[in-house]
Amino acid sequence: MAKYVYFPLVLALTLLQCQSSDQSEETGPVALAEVDDEFLQRDDHGEEWPSYGLNSYEDRFSPLHEININNVSDLNLAWSLDLGTKRGIEATPLVVNGVMYLSGPWSKVFAINARTGTLLWLYDPAVPRDHGEKACCDVVNRGVALYKGRVYVGTLDGRLVAINATTGTMEWETMTVDSTRAYTITGAPRIANGMVLIGNGGAEYGVRGYVSAYDAGTGEQIWRTYTVPGNPAEGFESTAMEKAADTWSGSWWEYGGGGTVWDAMAFDPDLNLIYIGTGNGSPWDRNYRSPEGGDNLYLSSILALNPADGSIEWHYQTTPGDTWDFTATQHIILTDMEIEGQERKVLMQAPKNGFFYVLDRTNGELISAEKFTYVNWATHVDMETGKPVETPFARFEEVNAMISPNYDGGHNWQPMAYNKNTGLVYIPVRETGAVYGHDPNWTYQGESGFASGNGWNLGTGFHPERPLKEDPNAPENMPTGKLLAWDPVKQEEAWHVSHTAHSNGGILTTAGNLVFQGTSTGYFVAYDATNGIKLWEYFVGSGVIAAPSAYLIDNEMYVSIAVGWGGAKGTSSKYTEHIYPGRVFTFKIGGTAPEVVFEDLPEKQLVSLPVDATEEQIQQGSQLFTNYCAMCHSSPGSGGGAIPDLAYSTPEIHQSIKQIVLEGLLLPLGMPKFKGRLTEENVENIQAFILSQAAQKRASI
Ligand code: CA
Repeated sequence: MAKYVYFPLVLALTLLQCQSSDQSEETGPVALAEVDDEFLQRDDHGEEWPSYGLNSYEDRFSPLHEININNVSDLNLAWSLDLGTKRGIEATPLVVNGVMYLSGPWSKVFAINARTGTLLWLYDPAVPRDHGEKACCDVVNRGVALYKGRVYVGTLDGRLVAINATTGTMEWETMTVDSTRAYTITGAPRIANGMVLIGNGGAEYGVRGYVSAYDAGTGEQIWRTYTVPGNPAEGFESTAMEKAADTWSGSWWEYGGGGTVWDAMAFDPDLNLIYIGTGNGSPWDRNYRSPEGGDNLYLSSILALNPADGSIEWHYQTTPGDTWDFTATQHIILTDMEIEGQERKVLMQAPKNGFFYVLDRTNGELISAEKFTYVNWATHVDMETGKPVETPFARFEEVNAMISPNYDGGHNWQPMAYNKNTGLVYIPVRETGAVYGHDPNWTYQGESGFASGNGWNLGTGFHPERPLKEDPNAPENMPTGKLLAWDPVKQEEAWHVSHTAHSNGGILTTAGNLVFQGTSTGYFVAYDATNGIKLWEYFVGSGVIAAPSAYLIDNEMYVSIAVGWGGAKGTSSKYTEHIYPGRVFTFKIGGTAPEVVFEDLPEKQLVSLPVDATEEQIQQGSQLFTNYCAMCHSSPGSGGGAIPDLAYSTPEIHQSIKQIVLEGLLLPLGMPKFKGRLTEENVENIQAFILSQAAQKRASI
């Protein structure tokens, strides 16, 4: 059932063989077949970029210095490749032996000649397009894993697929989720001791989180570790789950509970431990999920697992009693550093909740935690208890509270990087805030949530009978973003660069004393790692959300970034004039590829069609738009993002709106089919609302 395209592979392979015979065994590029546990566990990767975070320490610190602060102004395009995709790209390009492996929208995998930009193969796992609506945050994928001649990808619909790296054909696949629930995979798999580790997402829709380990050779499941307890009546999988259940109340298991492992994982070869970050509660509002309160272990936590059986060795919960979507799934970096005269084995994380954590990774002991962005929900983290001390803004039992950070986080999945030379962590920081209230009318919809709307099961919203508690100290321009250089020992800022918008790309730092980051405004930028001075930039057309990687081919250093605007919020907003198809850009010193010409697309016209509806019908259409469309489409007339603003859709699209919405005419593009959920009259009212918004917008110009 999977489809792939076969490109002139023989030519490409001949090229690669010539290339490796030119190099000595010791220093030459490593064939993908030789990427084994020992290789992946090395901490000195620079020539290759063999795993998501570069090495086991996930530090994204390239030891290469061929591109550096003195010559970066001569950095220029070596090649770029149009990927022919139109949704968000969040993946870090992996490169081994001159071949780049990159995942894109709908979990497609691309193998590209990293020297020339020629596509070697494309593997399309044929994700059913109706699965797209079960993804909270676009049909993205953050990357693949490489091991012994295979490429591993987790698909949006929950499969783990092993692909032959040479031919691009599937070798095995296994379903890792209960397909009746709204599970998705967007995170990159990791390799540990011959196993492939994979988690999943879906805590906005009512699922129970877990991580699984599969035999990399056969796809056989070795273990699965749940992150939150299930129904006690059915027995607990482990004593850890039994103990965790003491921190919950009510009938949480009926709502899934959450705690999904949708991004951060790291395998620590020094201590033989796997670290995972867990996500938010499901539903968000603890008053519904666990009505008598409680910490709700292991939501929003960092867990250390024994690779032999997945058992939990230690845990640290960043946000006890999560009720804000404060995931601790953000990138985890391992390192050894001197703290108060002592050499410590630490891990670092900057989760959504706004605190930068340094933990002793041998035992999970909290070493330090400080705010790295604007935070009003907690004053500080108590070093005795290891818990945040909440402010009156934190809970919303009495009020609707303006809370910072919000569900978008002080930092999200965009990876940070740690430069061992400067001793600084570079974080794509956000300043965010939102009003949180208790939705008094919420009832759990389960999977049937999709029948009555977009399927989200949050419980938070706005309580109409409670006052609004505003924060007079909140920064004015939220949401906004910055590149923050953070000293993890002193727990203080070294410098920062302000950005226009909050959703910018992940980070690469190098021994050339550089920090690379793409911005939502469409620039790929290099900064001086010591002081944040901008040294170079290149316009890449669309906003950047992914992180770059660096590697060496024939002693030349390359830097690559995959560009594809989208992701959470990116579907409905943008900060560039246009959004172009996904494209990989690869740079080297003195690169001679011609500049990419971004066609000026014709200016979009507000649709002008007569509105034949009453005020009441338009009002109903507005409500339906909020419940069914606003997850992906922007408010009509506001401009849209990776997904169209329907006020600018053509008259032809509007004439076909019933076939599109009810019959699934555009399902191949990911537009869900709403037959059985919306009636013809519903669609007419939604359309009347869109057309009336377009008319209002026209009148206002
Ligand atoms: Ca979430």
